[in-house]
Amino acid sequence: MRKFSGEQRLCAVTCNGCGRTLRVEDGVLKEGCFAADQLFGYFSSMDGERHSFDLCEDCYRKWIGQFAVPVEKKETVELL
Ligand SMILES: [Zn+2]
Repeated sequence: MRKFSGEQRLCAVTCNGCGRTLRVEDGVLKEGCFAADQLFGYFSSMDGERHSFDLCEDCYRKWIGQFAVPVEKKETVELL
């Protein structure tokens, strides 16, 4: 869950999984985070609902650890 100031500057990120506040400095998120923003469409039972959440790295690892099929991982050498 993200909170923004009046100028749309990021001021807080809370992990939806554990409730921990992630580190944000000068409008920049300073730790790893999985951010989801999904708009469900016509063929979904949640048609028209938009779901957004953030997970800290610990919660993300726990979540994907439950998957029947592991996530695909690729190494990236250029990071922003
Ligand atoms: Zn968490």
